[in-house]
Amino acid sequence: MRAFAYTRADTPRAAAQAAEATGTKFIAGGTNLLDLMKLDIEQPSRLVDVSRLNLRDVTDTPDGGLHVGALVTNTDLANHPRVKSDYAVLTRAIVAGASGQIRNKATTGGNLLQRARCPYFYDTNLPCNKRDPGTGCAALRGLSRTLAVIGTSDACIAQHPSDMAVALRVLDATVNTLKPDGTARTLTLDEFYRLPEDTPHLETTLEPGELITGVTLPPPVGGTHLYRKVRDRASYAFALVSVAAIVDGDRVRVAFGGVAPRPWRVPDAEDAYARARADGRADALIDRAFEGARPTEENAFKVPLLRRTLKAVLAQAGQEAQA
Ligand SMILES: Cc1cc2nc3c(=O)[nH]c(=O)nc-3n(C[C@H](O)[C@H](O)[C@H](O)COP(=O)(O)OP(=O)(O)OC[C@H]3O[C@@H](n4cnc5c(N)ncnc54)[C@H](O)[C@@H]3O)c2cc1C
Ligand code: SF4
Repeated sequence: MRAFAYTRADTPRAAAQAAEATGTKFIAGGTNLLDLMKLDIEQPSRLVDVSRLNLRDVTDTPDGGLHVGALVTNTDLANHPRVKSDYAVLTRAIVAGASGQIRNKATTGGNLLQRARCPYFYDTNLPCNKRDPGTGCAALRGLSRTLAVIGTSDACIAQHPSDMAVALRVLDATVNTLKPDGTARTLTLDEFYRLPEDTPHLETTLEPGELITGVTLPPPVGGTHLYRKVRDRASYAFALVSVAAIVDGDRVRVAFGGVAPRPWRVPDAEDAYARARADGRADALIDRAFEGARPTEENAFKVPLLRRTLKAVLAQAGQEAQA
């Protein structure tokens, strides 16, 4: 690991100001950033420690939703009584990720900003436009089985690895931020995450020093909340594909993980689902949501796998609704 300077911030505004300079990174739980620094993939010259900021609360919002501080750990968020009762898809997604020990350290803000799990991103001997802009993409002609099938570009086909973010997308959550000049912003997840296009190293629309202060969940929408993750091992593995769904009779909200550079949700596909005959609903949704998909030979299995996974989720929703 390279030498770096270290600052601990006392307030969110001070943290944002301290992180504005080039080469500075925030550190929260450290479960992703420190690994990447040890591998020489991230090379910050200064770390701004935000772990002691007062952003650890989950609070009710005036409209009946929930505000989650950026430093709420994944364990505390998954176990929060209102999350378990009103936003169960979020609890189910979080506990499907990582391990208990990591979830105890990992934070809400850090989880949203964890970096790609492409094998070439981790191999500093090989070209990677995300790690080293302009060098090329080793995955295009290499091992791409785990990578994205839609939303990709000729510069990068990495998928977003977070389980939590897929549930947040289906819940229409927004990300709250604070810039060094004191301006606050609220971004939908589609506004927050960039698609790779020709700048895959720019993964979000955050500006230098901009701190995530929390995430806001809108009022609960009811329905049956499900998260199904398909992976190579039963635990401690990232998703090959995942489905976050809220099913309420003929209406469904669905977001997909493991298949795109950001949680993938296509509202038109949910309308296609509502219009289709009962036995063709899952097909109508997948056909629309994955129109224009560009899988590689190695990961073309992901679209039929998603189709089957969605059908299993819908069957489970039917059983849970009857129980
Ligand atoms: C072995 C292993 C298995 C895993 N399996 C899964 C899995 O199956 N599913 C899954 O979803 N995740 C998985 N993870 C990833 C894990 O969820 C993330 O490492 C964790 O959520 C990151 O949170 P953190 O607080 O530790 O972030 P950090 O490592 O501290 O930071 C990560 C990034 O976020 C930035 N950051 C942190 N907080 C803020 C903030 N408030 N504002 C702005 N920027 C900020 C940092 O600068 C850094 O760039 C796994 C991790 C490991 C090590
Ligand atoms: S897919 Fe993206 S992360 Fe993987 S090698 Fe290509 S540019 Fe790098």
